[in-house]
Parts: sequence; structure tokens; C-alpha cells
Amino acid sequence: MSKITDFIAYFGENHPELELKTNQPMSKFTSFRIGGAAELMAFPQNEEELALILKMSKKMDIEPVILGAGTNVLAPDAGIPGLVICLKDALSGMEQIGDTQIRVMAGVTMSRAAVFAANLGLSGLEFAHGIPGTVGGGVYMNAGAYGGEIKDVCTRVRIMDMDGNARWITNSEAGFSYRHSAMEDNPWIVAAAEFQLTPAPAQLIKDKMLELINKRRASQPLDLPSAGSAFKRPVGGYAAALIDQTGLKGFRIGGAAVSEKHAGFVVNVGQATAEDVKQLLREVSDRVYAAHGIRLEPEVRIW
Ligand SMILES: Cc1cc2nc3c(=O)[nH]c(=O)nc-3n(C[C@H](O)[C@H](O)[C@H](O)COP(=O)(O)OP(=O)(O)OC[C@H]3O[C@@H](n4cnc5c(N)ncnc54)[C@H](O)[C@@H]3O)c2cc1C
Repeated sequence: MSKITDFIAYFGENHPELELKTNQPMSKFTSFRIGGAAELMAFPQNEEELALILKMSKKMDIEPVILGAGTNVLAPDAGIPGLVICLKDALSGMEQIGDTQIRVMAGVTMSRAAVFAANLGLSGLEFAHGIPGTVGGGVYMNAGAYGGEIKDVCTRVRIMDMDGNARWITNSEAGFSYRHSAMEDNPWIVAAAEFQLTPAPAQLIKDKMLELINKRRASQPLDLPSAGSAFKRPVGGYAAALIDQTGLKGFRIGGAAVSEKHAGFVVNVGQATAEDVKQLLREVSDRVYAAHGIRLEPEVRIW
């Protein structure tokens, strides 16, 4: 019996309530719509289930990978042998703490968290409303847009280590920097986060969110599968501008293409494979380097 078969048997006998699914195409769980099947996916509904999964994984020598909404992941064509723990819509729940803070579980989408805050008349998450990932994924990579970043509003992060032990860490311990956090350097899973917000009229907050969504619609290829900006902002320029100036809008390898609408986006124009996207990212980075001497690094997490 394989480790995964043992894992399924253990949970089937002892915790049948835990949602497990075998052989799930990652193309269904990523915004790129790319990726072969994950051998096993688990959908923990609360911290206790997540801790149990991690403890048993460790005991059975399984190294799980964590998935949020899959909006910043390029999953391999060959699929993922082993366990994917999916938190989106599973690890969910939000609450107000005191007058001006909210606590949000990692699997809640940033959009829902922003609307929750707006309905409470709390400003600060408007920038995050149009980012299609989860709060866990956003904290993990310090997501940002339109001048706002998670690090500006996140006061504490609840992390869980691979032994299933959870604790709160402060904003400074979370080590936020541009599209990066200490969660990437440590075996820490984001289980929840708290945000310090500012009172403001709910309608003003909603108007701001609408304005930002309209900006996105006007400038981004939201009709095609992608993972958002394909490259990080390099020192000394903007990825989209550099790609555009290199004449790469529309440049295509297989089913992957540089968006005509926004040169910073790589889009799946039909049946793109992960290999197509990887080749395209390499080629774009090389051509921009040859033309401008600036090396672009992928923002999308290549699994
Ligand atoms: C159309 C579009 C627009 C976008 N616009 C923006 C934008 O304006 N700004 C921006 O910053 N990003 C943007 N993105 C990218 C993406 O939405 C963000 O990076 C988002 O924060 C990813 O969250 P996720 O839940 O989808 O993470 P996933 O893609 O599921 O995961 C990304 C990485 O985070 C890890 N991870 C996820 N959840 C956790 C967790 N709870 N604990 C530990 N690790 C975790 C995963 O292992 C993976 O390595 C955009 C994407 C798309 C498709």
C-alpha cells in the first residue's frame, strides 16, 4: 500500500467527516486552468482538521502542499503525486474584533473579506477587493494593488507549523516585503489573519472598490485564464512596460501568450500546458534582458 492509500484508510476509519478527494485535476483548481491531477486533495473545515492532517502527514512521511484559490500557481502537467491541502472556502469564517479590527480565516477570499469590512464601515481593504485569491494566499505573498499591500493593514498572522501547532505572530515577525513574507521561508501555513482598519462611511468604501474594479476591467485581460501579473516588478522599471517595449505583446508559445491587453499578464489562450507557460516566461525574460539589461523574475509560483 502507498502512503497515500494508508492516509485515506486512516481518515476513512477514524475521521470520515474530513473531506478527501482523489485524482483531482489541478486545472479545475487554478485560475490558469492548467495542471494534471493531484493524487489526493484534503479540504479542512477548521484549524483542528488542518492540524490533524498535518500531524498524520508527518507521521506517514507525506509532504503536503498548500493551495488557496490557485490564482498565483502554475501546476505541473504531470500532476501532483501526494497530498494537496486546499483551504479556499474550506477554512472559512470572519469576525469583527473590537471596533476597528477583523479576524479572517485563511480560506476566505480577499474579495469577501473586503466586502465584510466595507459592510462594517471599515476602510483599508479596498485595494484587496479585486485580487482573486484567498486571505491565506494574500498574506503568504504580501499581495498588493493600487498602492495598498497586505503588510499595511495586517497586524497579526495565525500560523501553523507542520506539526500542527498554531500560534499568532506579529506583523514584524511576518517579515513582509514586496510580494514576500516569512511564511515563504519557514514551514508555516497561514491559518488566519487580523487586520487593523479605519472607520469610514460604507458607501465611500464601496465606491472606491467599484472604482478599482472598473480600473482592472479596463486594463486587465479578465476574460482569459491567467495568474495575474506573471513577473515581479523589477528594480528600475515595470515588467509590463519593459515587455511591451520589447515588442512582445501577443507573443505566443503553444497555448500560452503575452496578453495583448496587458503585457504583464501571461494568458492561457486555449489548451496551454505548464511547459508552454514556463517556456514563454523564460523567453520573455531572456528577450527583455537582452533588450534592456533587466532580468524579470516570475511572480507566479511554479510548482
Ligand atoms: C486576474 C488576476 C489578477 C490578480 N491581481 C493581483 C494583484 O493585483 N495583486 C496581487 O498581489 N496579486 C494578484 N493576483 C495574483 C493572486 O491573486 C495573488 O497572488 C493571491 O494572493 C494568491 O492567493 P491564492 O489564494 O490564490 O494563492 P494560491 O495561488 O493558491 O497560492 C499561491 C502560493 O501561496 C501559498 N499559499 C496559499 N495559501 C496559503 C496559506 N494559507 N498558507 C501558506 N501558504 C499558502 C501556496 O502554497 C502557493 O505557493 C492576480 C491574479 C489573477 C488571476
